[in-house]
Parts: sequence; C-alpha cells; structure tokens
Amino acid sequence: MAENSSSPTQIPDSPKVGMVSLGCPKALVDSERILTRLRSDGYQMSADYAGADVVLVNTCGFLDSAKEESLAAIGEAMAENGRVIVTGCMGNEAEAIRARFPDVLAITGAHQYEDVVGAVHIAAPPTRGPFVDLIPADRDTGEVKLTPRHYSYLKISEGCNHSCAFCIIPQLRGKLASRRVDAVLREAEKLVAAGTRELLVISQDTSAYGVDIRHETREWKGREVRAHMTDLARELGALRSPDGTQPWVRLHYVYPYPHVDDVIPLMAQGLITPYLDIPFQHAAPNVLRAMKRPANEARVLERIKAWRDICPDLVIRSSFVVGFPGETEADFQYLLDWLDEAQLDRVGAFKFEPVDGASANDLPNPVPEAVKEERFARIMAKTAAISAAKLAAKVGRVIPVIIDEVGEEDEDGDIGATARSQADAPEIDGQVLLRNVPADLAPGMIVMARIEDADEHDLFGVIESDLT
Ligand code: SF4
Repeated sequence: MAENSSSPTQIPDSPKVGMVSLGCPKALVDSERILTRLRSDGYQMSADYAGADVVLVNTCGFLDSAKEESLAAIGEAMAENGRVIVTGCMGNEAEAIRARFPDVLAITGAHQYEDVVGAVHIAAPPTRGPFVDLIPADRDTGEVKLTPRHYSYLKISEGCNHSCAFCIIPQLRGKLASRRVDAVLREAEKLVAAGTRELLVISQDTSAYGVDIRHETREWKGREVRAHMTDLARELGALRSPDGTQPWVRLHYVYPYPHVDDVIPLMAQGLITPYLDIPFQHAAPNVLRAMKRPANEARVLERIKAWRDICPDLVIRSSFVVGFPGETEADFQYLLDWLDEAQLDRVGAFKFEPVDGASANDLPNPVPEAVKEERFARIMAKTAAISAAKLAAKVGRVIPVIIDEVGEEDEDGDIGATARSQADAPEIDGQVLLRNVPADLAPGMIVMARIEDADEHDLFGVIESDLT
C-alpha cells in the first residue's frame, strides 16, 4: 500500500471578538456590518471582555458628553482586556485617543469598516483553510480581500449537522445553529439600504437553513416567513435599494436536497440570481459514501437537467476533491465522465489533504501525491475546456453585469472596467472586462454589456446601455 506522506493540517480555534457599540443608529448599522463580516470570516463573538482575543469599541463623537462616554468605554476595555481597536466617529480624533490610551492597537474612522476588519485580521488572524473558509480567497493572489460596499456576505447559520469524513467544521463550530429569519432579513435590508447591490448568502449548509429551529415562522413586513431557504430566497429577492434597484442574491453552499428544486423557479422569474454553488466534492458513489457526503443520491444529473429546462441561464459552480483515500482510477474516470454530462459552469478542485481531527485520516488506501497531482491536472484541464466552451457561447449576447472596479484613463483616453456577470461570484469565478466605459461609471452599478470575446475564465465586452 502506498504511504501518504503528508501530515495532518492543524486548524486552530477561531478567534473571539468583543464589541462595545455606542452612538446613533447609523453607528449601530456600522457595528452590525463589521460583525457580519467578521462572523463570515469565521470569528466568534465574545459576550464578555475576558473571553475576547480583541475588543472593538465603536465610538460616538457627536457631543462632548458622547466623546467622554466613548473615552470611558475605551478605558474600560483597555483595563479589562487590553487589546482594543477603536472605530467610529471618534476615530477621527485619533490624537486625543492616543494621548489617553497610547496602547490601543488601531484607530479607524466612521464607516471605514474595511479598515477596522483589516485591523482585526492583524490583531487576531482568522482561522484559515480550504475546509473552514466560507469567504473565498482571491483566485489570483490567494488572499482574502475585504468586501467592497457593493457586495456583502450574509451569513444565515453557523455550524453543521453532517459529518463529512474530510471536514472538522462540526467539531470547530458545533451543530447547525440557524439565525432567526427576521434577523437575517433585517440585516439584508440594512445592507441593501447602505449600498449593497449583491448579497452572497453563506453558511456551511444553506439548504439546511432552519432545520434546527423547525423552520419556525417570524413576522416580516406583515407576512409570516419560515426559516427556510425557499422563503428566505423569495424575501431577499423582494428587497430594493433606495433607488429601486433589485440586488442580486446569490446562494452559496447549497446541497442538492429535494427542496432545492423550489428555488429554481425563483431564478427563472428573476427574483434571485440564477447561480447555485453546490460543493459536490465527487461523483463516484463509493467515494461519496466514503466521504459521508449529505444529499448523496444518484439522480443528480437528471435534476441538473430538469433545473436547466426550467431556468436555461442557471449557472452551477462546484468544487471537487481529488485523491481522497481509496479513490481508484475508475472512480476518478467516473468523475470526469460525470463532468462531461453535468457541464458545470465553474469548477474548483482541491487535492485531498488530511486535516487534523478528520476521520478521513484513518481511511485505508491513501492516494500517492504524484497520482493526486496527475488527477488534479486532468480535472483542471477538463473543467477549463468546459468553461471555455460555455463562455464562447456567450459571445454576441447582451447580459447584465455589475461593476467592481473602474480603471484610469489610458494614453488613448480609454477607460476600462472590471465587472462580473450573474454567472460570476466575486473572488472565485471569472470577470467581464469592459473597454471604453464612460467616465461616470462607478463600482456597484449594474449595466448591460455586449460580450465580444471570451477565454477560459473571463469575458470581454462593451457597455450596451445603463440599467442603474
Ligand atoms: S456538510 Fe460536510 S463539508 Fe460541509 S461543513 Fe458539514 S461536515 Fe463539513
């Protein structure tokens, strides 16, 4: 039997963040936004100073009395914990804060939530690893970027009820704990009111949302809404920004349980983005069994076909593990053939690596590293070819795109922009690179683009007309 030389990857506990939030409702929205992002990055919240690895104080600096209250809160956090980051309105008076508390770790101003999240990352680095991260790393740099204002991650639950053999999330984060549906919707509404044009719904198992709280109903806008993926998707699709724009709503980490069929018509109706991120991980039945994957059933190919009949523009992203212990050449070939049938639009692949504490580490028949490498190269070549053909079929179409970044004018007076289509989740999928864009184009705008060219991952085009 071949030996697997790699030793298990150790994943430390997630850091804990304490938060003291002072001031007006706007400051509270900022606090919620910061905490949302930190929760999405895998941080846990601490209810007391003692349990926190770092304490955030979101200050108010509107009146002298509010400043005094803010300084007192910073003083208390310094005395009780000592690792303090200050943000909010009083952050604009950094010198006054430093004069009283020279040891605060960082000071950022109001609404600079990217900066404060960055400071937390430095003070207490997040737990990282392909099997614990929900927020994807940048596909080029491998680094985790902070979310710009026009898209936001919306975490709907924590933990997981499954016990996939390669994963230690249930040990790290516990059993599935779903958030109240009205709390999720309120957070989404605030994000959209504050400029979010794209909501990225994340959890460890989005299709299981609400199972632990028996899909309890809560009142939202005079309606009874269940804590259930379908109800949540429908309500998120009804949100509008102040200028009437319908935000894109993208579902990540969906397992193909039967009720997933119910969200496809919502996509066909244009309520939510026709995109499903389903981490299939493999296709060969005995590998899936060894992996102990949820929703592991044989009819997935038929269901994908039925979904595409209902919603032809549906894009499916997935990830796969190659070289799982016991994976034979026949299993791997089964996966490649399955991919030929499934024609998934976007695929990421990982070579299996043992994670400290995962039950897969004890499985027999580890796959040698050289074989893993070879299979990885084959799956990447296969999926790149499928992606290239799918993207080539978009040339000539006019599709909505969301602007991520607008470049500088070049020597010919041309301005380029980086955008994404509905088929592209930020940071993991492709881009739509636009030429000759108008100077007043801004990140977050959703415009129609005519696609002129394509390669394996990206599209190229020009703006056809403004939507918003
Ligand atoms: S479904 Fe499996 S891989 Fe995903 S978090 Fe749960 S145990 Fe881990």
